[in-house]
Amino acid sequence: GLADRLQQTLQKVRGKGKVTEADVKVMMREVRLALLEADVNFKVVKQFIAKVKERAIGQEVLESLTPGQQVVKVVNEELTALMGGEQSKIAVANKPPTVIMMVGLQGAGKTTSTGKLANHLRKKHNRMPLLVAADVYRPAAINQLQTLGKQLGMPVFDLGTDTSPVEIAKRGIEKAKEEHHDYVIIDTAGRLHIDEGLMDELAQIKEITNPDEILLVVDAMTGQDAVNVAQSFHDQLGLSGVVLTKLDGDTRGGAALSIKSVTNTPVKFIGMGEKLDALEPFHPERMASRILGMGDVLSLIEKAQTNVDEKKAKELEEKMRTMSFTFEDFLEQLTQVRSMGPLDEILGMLPGAGQMKQLKNLKVDDKQLNHVEAIIKSMTKGEKLQPETINASRKKRIAKGSGRSVQEVNRLLKQFEDMKKMMKQMSNMQKGKKKGGMGG
Ligand code: GDP
Ligand code: MG
Repeated sequence: GLADRLQQTLQKVRGKGKVTEADVKVMMREVRLALLEADVNFKVVKQFIAKVKERAIGQEVLESLTPGQQVVKVVNEELTALMGGEQSKIAVANKPPTVIMMVGLQGAGKTTSTGKLANHLRKKHNRMPLLVAADVYRPAAINQLQTLGKQLGMPVFDLGTDTSPVEIAKRGIEKAKEEHHDYVIIDTAGRLHIDEGLMDELAQIKEITNPDEILLVVDAMTGQDAVNVAQSFHDQLGLSGVVLTKLDGDTRGGAALSIKSVTNTPVKFIGMGEKLDALEPFHPERMASRILGMGDVLSLIEKAQTNVDEKKAKELEEKMRTMSFTFEDFLEQLTQVRSMGPLDEILGMLPGAGQMKQLKNLKVDDKQLNHVEAIIKSMTKGEKLQPETINASRKKRIAKGSGRSVQEVNRLLKQFEDMKKMMKQMSNMQKGKKKGGMGG
């Protein structure tokens, strides 16, 4: 994938003493291939490479004491800029309700995202949305939205399948005003392909509802197609934002990188699974770091904050930044992580997790987590705080105490060290970022 490829390339320059113009050229060729393989639009790739190259052979890098890290920083910054730079927030109307129209092709995830967005607005912004079922072509679509409404404990407005979607949308907004909802989310019908009938209907709904947001829902797995679909919808309807779904799957990520620069429409949210809480605001900078494999610590912290004690999460963040992260923290984190839900997702956000095969194994197997916990619990307080004191005889004792093998103890110690190393790299990068001027 893109991340691995870029990582391999960047690994070569990370911390390297001196970078020559020839080095930069070789690297840019690799980055270019990686982006093309990830299904990023070729025009986007060309512009991106030109920008990075210009900066990478500029003084900023060549005169730096850590040129390797500077190149990583430049790539990171330009990736961020490519995806829009700043986070694009959801609209709030001056006079409620804020009207959001969800559009997109069939199967992209409109109905699911309607439910997820409503959940997000309530949880994070304390809002009470009304959901409107304006996909009248399949009775199942209305049922699907009603079911989501029930799960969320939120009202869903529908008029069955015999009323026109335009009428439903209009009456839905009236209803929202009467009942003082502050958001209305209209779930519209999709088609397998873009056609005139669909666009006419959506244009009429737009006309009558005057939405504050028209969010296009696209499936990230479709790569370049997602970008083309976004372009067509934007040309014909005018979009205010994109919800990129199914980023949890085996996507090549190209869509996330191309949409904004091709269509000039920001990605506002990403779908990370089928469940109702699997929607996240899109942060270009975090996505860039994630692509580069630096781990998405901020997202992890945010997740921790909604599910776990806020103070603890802050402490954890501080520890990660100051490198005073110990086995005690590691254990506490494992325990918290377990109460946070899908392990894959959480561990995937840890710095370097993408690179660490052992952690990957750890990821899928809950039983192994139990073993890790047992090993850590068999350490003395001093050992947890200063793992470097764990010599051979201590390892034997810990293995015996936890009922695990010495190899397993060794493996865990190694993992912990790797993790600390990654954190260090990451915090160095953060420091570098603060010092250097922000590009793009
Ligand atoms: P619609 O036709 O655009 O309304 O699409 P649906 O909301 O019915 O979603 C189609 C399928 O995609 C459903 O099976 C959803 O569960 C699934 N889906 C939607 N969003 C995501 C996502 O972010 N990740 C994954 N893995 N599946 C998703
Ligand atoms: Mg639907």
